[in-house]
Amino acid sequence: MDDRGPRVVIVGGGFGGLAAAKALGKTPARVLLIDRTNHHLFQPLLYQVATAVLATGQIASPIREILRKQRNATVVLGEVTGVDVNQQSVIVNSADREDVPVPYDYLVLATGAGHSYFGHDEYEKFAPGLKSLADAVAARNKILQAFEQAEAEEDPSRHRDLLTFVLVGAGATGVEMAGALAGLVRSTLRSEYRRIDPSAARIILVDLGNRVLGTFADDLSRAAKERLERLGVEVRLGHGVDQIDAEGVTVAGERIASKTVIWTAGVAPSPAGKWLKGETDRAGRVRVQTDLTVAGHPEIFVVGDTASLDQDGKPLAGVAQVAMQQGRYAGRLIHRRVTGQSAPGPFRYFDKGNMAVVGKGFAVLQSGKVHVSGLLAWLAWAAVHLEFVGQSGLRISVFLQWVWTYLTGQRGSRLIVNHHASTNDDARTPSAPERQPAGTR
Ligand SMILES: Cc1cc2nc3c(=O)[nH]c(=O)nc-3n(C[C@H](O)[C@H](O)[C@H](O)COP(=O)(O)OP(=O)(O)OC[C@H]3O[C@@H](n4cnc5c(N)ncnc54)[C@H](O)[C@@H]3O)c2cc1C
Repeated sequence: MDDRGPRVVIVGGGFGGLAAAKALGKTPARVLLIDRTNHHLFQPLLYQVATAVLATGQIASPIREILRKQRNATVVLGEVTGVDVNQQSVIVNSADREDVPVPYDYLVLATGAGHSYFGHDEYEKFAPGLKSLADAVAARNKILQAFEQAEAEEDPSRHRDLLTFVLVGAGATGVEMAGALAGLVRSTLRSEYRRIDPSAARIILVDLGNRVLGTFADDLSRAAKERLERLGVEVRLGHGVDQIDAEGVTVAGERIASKTVIWTAGVAPSPAGKWLKGETDRAGRVRVQTDLTVAGHPEIFVVGDTASLDQDGKPLAGVAQVAMQQGRYAGRLIHRRVTGQSAPGPFRYFDKGNMAVVGKGFAVLQSGKVHVSGLLAWLAWAAVHLEFVGQSGLRISVFLQWVWTYLTGQRGSRLIVNHHASTNDDARTPSAPERQPAGTR
């Protein structure tokens, strides 16, 4: 790598960080991308790994493979634990070294978000969330294991608890997961067991709000709920969970026995706000200016889920498009500064619309005044996700798997794989991630 030019350190190889790195492709600078995993993860398809449609390698790619042709970019596997804004360095732990200062001239923080249990961190061990590949594999193990346990259980009175699946949170992740789970139990697994009837499994989706897909328009939210109910999902709205433990959940005073509870509710930003000791919003996301820098630090950019920026009086959502557009903007702005060009206008998010899938062949799509639900929306969803899934090789394999699953009901990855390492870490460095403040996505 060239040892001249300013040092641009990017923390996070998710949607925001990767977009920033790519936008710096022709910049005379030394770009260093640090991530605690070795892969870029396509989070919107995590639920398909959790429900055995896709394998882990179909929704993630090694970051260094994605950036292999970008000669000015170096990728390092390490966990950032802090930022020294006065010394202009980030503090990094790697496999065999701790607290290594890595200097920067420009810094882009794109560290995303984790789970939030809204002050009930004790729920985490009973209701794991869905944020990393390891989370998705753990959820898949749990779901498939429940059927194995029920088949092995001679006392039929125990089958009901084992085959009751509760999803807490009816946003896009909860709805997509519920639809895919319904397909798994009613179609894929239907004829494979002898002592149990997988199609009799209960899938319960719980949310405090009065609508599923709360960020979508009313008509689409209603269409999604009706579709879920047609798929046999019990949708319980207007009441959150009062309690989660090893034996199940309590909702509105009712006890629901379940061995498989999955948290699809809140997210909390990464600790970037604590590292910078700057202004954050109530959820803990770093407040950025309209050029995505932190006040008083024109050399520090924060993008994606861990940044907080209002547009037209409303905070921008924690979605992939926002992260990608912000990352690209930050990269281009740094390029212009490094090459002595004038600064661009302020960042403005261009909203291309929102989509969510509700089981086989059905999605809802909202783009401005256009509201579509059904097969057409599902086809649009499939096309957009294939375009963004990453490498072209993955695109082909995901497409073929979807066609196969659509036609036969069979899924691509129904293996129960219990890794020896902690299920909370995918190839992460040894240090534990910091506790994060509560907030919502
Ligand atoms: C299950 C699920 C479904 C979703 N579905 C959709 C959807 O359908 N449509 C949509 O638009 N959005 C969806 N989202 C949201 C979308 O994925 C996020 O908005 C987007 O990933 C944010 O991008 P980011 O770059 O800010 O963070 P991320 O993509 O999360 O990337 C953050 C990166 O930073 C790394 N990192 C974090 N901390 C450190 C550290 N201390 N040191 C080093 N590296 C670190 C992580 O390993 C990760 O690679 C979904 C999210 C989830 C979890």
